Amino acid sequence: MKVDYHIHAEYSYDSKLKAEDLINKAISLRYDSIAVTEHLDLLPNELTRFGLPPFSKYTVQMRSLQAIHASSPLGIICGVEVGDYQRVLPFASEFLAQLDFDLILGAVHFLSDHTNVAVPLRNPLTPAQILDYYRHNLALVSNCDIQVLAHLGVYKRYYAQTPDESHCEGIFADIFQTMIERGIALEINFSGLRKPYGKMLPEPDQIDLYRSLGGTLFSLGSDAHQMQDFDALYPELPDWLVSGLIRLPRTT
Ligand SMILES: [Zn+2]
Ligand SMILES: [Zn+2]
Repeated sequence: MKVDYHIHAEYSYDSKLKAEDLINKAISLRYDSIAVTEHLDLLPNELTRFGLPPFSKYTVQMRSLQAIHASSPLGIICGVEVGDYQRVLPFASEFLAQLDFDLILGAVHFLSDHTNVAVPLRNPLTPAQILDYYRHNLALVSNCDIQVLAHLGVYKRYYAQTPDESHCEGIFADIFQTMIERGIALEINFSGLRKPYGKMLPEPDQIDLYRSLGGTLFSLGSDAHQMQDFDALYPELPDWLVSGLIRLPRTT
């Protein structure tokens, strides 16, 4: 299975990619399935900066592309990446209930102190900030209706090496246990391969922990925002990852 379940296109404030171009490229590269996952960010600081994309237009466009390509072997998924969902409940649930998505990713982008951890950081995070980051992930998987936890450990993308996370080990187990109980898939996000960190997120030891607790649902995502990042690093992914590990919960 050649898949990519985390890609941003033109309805994300930070991408200009056309979904149609992406689909044509995925077909030419013999992908089995891809998901477009536009940003839904409802925190006040983001809403005031970027506003809300017209999601009803987006879903109509995706349904039409699915219909046009119905006879192609490519599976096309209309998805959304909900940022900081756990902080905007219940508005986000009500908002999502009005729309028709096949796949909902949940992601933590902001710490309690408003640090954005999805962009290059001015300073490395303190141990307390790292713990806060994982606590938000635990709240996200505990309280929100998501199918995939996206880019766990995203703050490390701009690090040169793995920071000390030994004080968070207990919370990793809580996050994974909760995901397993609630049927949430763990995303292996390989955007870190094209950033200074040079590693997938989460790292193999965390993937092992998730599996040792009984986790079987995995997603895979490039988090590409432009065509040149789509597929570019796919050939570098290890065999154990691309040969049969990826299994999403049922999409709606
Ligand atoms: Zn994200
Ligand atoms: Zn993303």
